[in-house]
Amino acid sequence: MTLETVSREPTSTIDWSQPIGFKYRHPRSHIKYIWTKETGWDKGELVRGNHTVTMDIAATALHYGQTCFEGMKAFRMKDGKIRIFRPELNAQRIQESCKAASMEAPPLPVFLDALRRVVEDNLDFVPPQGSNGSMYIRPFVFGSGPQLGLSPAPEFTFIILVNPVGPYYAGGMGSPVKALIAHSLDRAAPHGTGNTKLGGNYAPVFASTSVASAKGFTVNLFLDAATNTHIEEFATSNFAGCKRGADGKTIYVTPRSGSILKGVTNRSCAELASRHLGWNVERREISWDEVKDFDEVVATGTAVVMTPIGEIHREIKRPGKKVKVSADTGATTGAYDWDKDAEEEVGAEVDVQIVKFSKPPTEFRKLYDAVLDLQQGNLPGWQDYGWMWPAEGI
Ligand SMILES: *Cc1c(COP(=O)(O)O)cnc(C)c1O
Repeated sequence: MTLETVSREPTSTIDWSQPIGFKYRHPRSHIKYIWTKETGWDKGELVRGNHTVTMDIAATALHYGQTCFEGMKAFRMKDGKIRIFRPELNAQRIQESCKAASMEAPPLPVFLDALRRVVEDNLDFVPPQGSNGSMYIRPFVFGSGPQLGLSPAPEFTFIILVNPVGPYYAGGMGSPVKALIAHSLDRAAPHGTGNTKLGGNYAPVFASTSVASAKGFTVNLFLDAATNTHIEEFATSNFAGCKRGADGKTIYVTPRSGSILKGVTNRSCAELASRHLGWNVERREISWDEVKDFDEVVATGTAVVMTPIGEIHREIKRPGKKVKVSADTGATTGAYDWDKDAEEEVGAEVDVQIVKFSKPPTEFRKLYDAVLDLQQGNLPGWQDYGWMWPAEGI
């Protein structure tokens, strides 16, 4: 197949003057790599046109949850070049996620080459400079070989999808959202896989998120599963709070825990807070009781950069009474209702503790602007950070 040449200019198939939101825009292609034991990773193929076939395979693969993903963004910068924000960190993290699920990971050079190829082939889907848009990049790996027995797949597929996006939440930093700590779900076990982007960490959260959403909450926040006393993170983003220290400097505070995702955004915000704004940074345990002492709280992640949190509601369940609902005696004979637990809890009540932040963030706003400026090439000395890849641009 001869590839048609790709224009550098934003495509006319999208009306860039309108908000483009966060939905799939069917860009030109995705790139797909397959690994087998015999061949290793192949050279990869840009798949143009119909995405349906690959999607069906992805959806139906018998991989026992062997799947992980990544998320990053490419920007049309001030100098006209297109660059991706810190992809080496995502490349490193996908290695860790793959390892946690016994999957073969694309090596760093394969990962970076794939990124470059798929972005180059969709250059005209990178939103215009100054539009606040970017190209969201979604790499994923999954077990794709036929595998009925409970062991790792014999083949793995690595795909990168790209898609132009606008800001995730229309309101941005000016519209704080409500967060819910639900009593009914733990996100990550102390020695589990919460520090990886395995699919299995995300599917269980969907139900909780839609319940929260119906009650008017935009995000779910989770405490540590072992003690339910420390802040961990939001369902798809990290937790950061700030307060003023005794020396008058602002302190960026973010949790330290083995079961939270090592967010590229959180790490970059902490570094920028220190290097660019002269704040202090603390990465340590944060108890629920401390949250009310923060001046501002945000959720950080690639898609949103920062979501300001206006209120956090924490549900606390007051246990009810256990009552017997079946005649189960332990040694069951005769009719036993398998569908009923032997005991049921009645009269349990849920108390709610609420922490409110009275105004939209002003300190975090400075940091948010600095991150966006760096990503656009507007922050003086942005090159010194070495965060925009490739340095020479695409
Ligand atoms: C992806 C993700 C984040 C944010 O990571 P970034 O690298 O900043 O995008 C934080 N927490 C969870 C649970 C995530 O899945």
